[in-house]
Amino acid sequence: MIILLNPAITGPQRLAIEAVLGSSGALHHTQTGPRGDVMVVTANPGGLTPDQLLGMPGVAGAMPAGQGYVQAGREMHPADTVVRVMGADVGGSAFLLAAGPCAVESEAQMEACAAAVAAAGGRILRGGSFKPRTSPYSFQGLGAEGLRIHRAAADRHGLIMMSEVLDREDLPLVAEVADVLQVGSRNMQNFPLLRALGKQPKPVLLKRGLAATREEFLLAAEYILSGGNPGVILCERGIRSFDPSLRHSLDLASVVILKEMTHLPVLVDPSHATGRRTLVTPMARAAAVCGADGLLLEVHPEPGRALSDGPQAILPEDLLRLSADLRALVPVVGRTFGGVP
Ligand code: PEP
Ligand code: MN
Repeated sequence: MIILLNPAITGPQRLAIEAVLGSSGALHHTQTGPRGDVMVVTANPGGLTPDQLLGMPGVAGAMPAGQGYVQAGREMHPADTVVRVMGADVGGSAFLLAAGPCAVESEAQMEACAAAVAAAGGRILRGGSFKPRTSPYSFQGLGAEGLRIHRAAADRHGLIMMSEVLDREDLPLVAEVADVLQVGSRNMQNFPLLRALGKQPKPVLLKRGLAATREEFLLAAEYILSGGNPGVILCERGIRSFDPSLRHSLDLASVVILKEMTHLPVLVDPSHATGRRTLVTPMARAAAVCGADGLLLEVHPEPGRALSDGPQAILPEDLLRLSADLRALVPVVGRTFGGVP
């Protein structure tokens, strides 16, 4: 059960609520939520019901805790969250385009990507400098040098820099340089990393795990929110299925369901979901009209020479054409292209 306290609650009123919980053997902890303090009842052996709390002075609401994503769920926070980052809105009525290469490789590659993203009206320049690779022999990223190249390219084109944090150890380095911190699929349930991200102020893009349910996804977001960081952006990036012909299966129905379950913005990554360049534009268009808050795309000036994920990278000219499509499509679902409301 969760009990929402009135922001003007007095000390004696709070003590009276705690006495009722204590007398039935309930255990709870108190969190500070966006609308005031929330008591989260973690054990309820006496079977207290929300009705027994609702009439008490100082109680603004009481309800079953559902799956436990109290702060990520819409119950306590019905309005959409808009994550504001450097003048761009993620969520609400904005439709945001984030794009860039899979991995930062060189100054020239990042310059070409940044110019392409800016020309297409994108706001975020993505690019990994610490790469999660299936094989330890694959290119692992340029590390600190990659962050420097990425920052410079983003700044030259007025773009927001987003980069993946692979490990808690790398967090101070990446958080010092990047504007948005990405958590990759393989780390969706790296709870120590999520906790550390909750205790720092930069927005976090959290990618859905390869085989994570929507509930597990929201509970992962809850780790960041409950640490005190409200800036969480979710990203659907395809899930494992029985079909080996695609890299993953893009779960667009989950985008619609997630938007019902949570107030957090949801982006779609059709690049990792499909693994195939020819599928990226059609799936991006579909995501734009199914209610996603934006897209995360991989683009590369020479995909044949890319050090990672070349087969799914679209060309700068593809990105430009897609952005023209998106400008036509997103008003159909009441949105404004560009991350500016
Ligand atoms: C990425 O976006 O660079 C990436 C590695 O994606 P994912 O974690 O979704 O596989
Ligand atoms: Mn990639």
